[in-house]
Amino acid sequence: MAKRNSLEIYPGQRTKEKRKLFGRFVASAIEAMYKEKFFALFGDKCFKCGQAETYRPGTVCVKLLCIDHHVPMALGCHLVPGNLVSLCHVCNGRKLDLAPEVFYTTEELGRLIPLLEQQHALFDFRFDHGAWSEDRYGYLVSLGFDPVLVHSLLHDENHRYFVGLPDSALKFTIGLSDDLMDLLRSKD
Ligand SMILES: [Zn+2]
Repeated sequence: MAKRNSLEIYPGQRTKEKRKLFGRFVASAIEAMYKEKFFALFGDKCFKCGQAETYRPGTVCVKLLCIDHHVPMALGCHLVPGNLVSLCHVCNGRKLDLAPEVFYTTEELGRLIPLLEQQHALFDFRFDHGAWSEDRYGYLVSLGFDPVLVHSLLHDENHRYFVGLPDSALKFTIGLSDDLMDLLRSKD
């Protein structure tokens, strides 16, 4: 069966909204940490069927849970805090462009509302460029990263979310695409 996607209002909407949602975290390591916090809101499970987070069979890095648009793009809503739900790929595929009232029971919707509201605080994140340039290590630790992990992020080039040190030739480019940089610049 061919994979179907939720309908976009305009071409590239999905990609653009993802960049906007996650661009605020600037570094991939910070983005990954906040994604973990997001899924933790849902107990690291699919909200609909309760499937726990794990990797997709046969893969090492494709996780099972995804972030679903609560009210779908096809109905005019966006990938924004307050409209995000942790669903497994199976439930996500079943939901597609269905309205929440069609896909969820009344009881489920009642449980879901507080989880939608809590997302606003979670995504109320502003990257502190000053603190980052001054003390990259201290900034990452202040965000809640384990100091041992921060050490790897700064020194281990093989780490998935390697950040590097400020004076390295890779300064401020790790995990940032040109589009993302444009987006960040345009926000100021
Ligand atoms: Zn599910």
